[in-house]
Amino acid sequence: MKLRIHHFFDIIKDFGSRRKLTPHSYGHSYHIVAQKIQVNPETNIKIVLGTDDICKGCKYIVNNHCEDTILHREDFTSKEKFNDHIDKRILKKCNIIVGDILTPVELCEKIPEYLDHIFWIYEGNNIEHTQVRK
Ligand code: SF4
Repeated sequence: MKLRIHHFFDIIKDFGSRRKLTPHSYGHSYHIVAQKIQVNPETNIKIVLGTDDICKGCKYIVNNHCEDTILHREDFTSKEKFNDHIDKRILKKCNIIVGDILTPVELCEKIPEYLDHIFWIYEGNNIEHTQVRK
């Protein structure tokens, strides 16, 4: 499968909080991808920037781009541009490059680096929110 790196860590966060993963009103495939990762931690994941397997079926995909917007930042309104920004920060700190193919087990081994730098990665977001994420 193809995934944005922050989507992988979102899934791990949701496993950690035991959130029930059900179909989303956007129509995207987050719950399907999460289930695949849960049942097969050796599946191959190609790291991408841009739309990924989670975006399949989403009502905000237009011409292979995310047209959704965000409201929680003053520096970004485009969700795609914000996601690119966050993904680049995660990739840098976790020593991963776009195009790498890793398993969920291998990606989980990157979690200590992710956590060490989580407040820098999400700098500009609400700090309490990042603490809960951590
Ligand atoms: S297209 Fe945008 S809103 Fe839809 S799943 Fe992908 S990133 Fe999320």
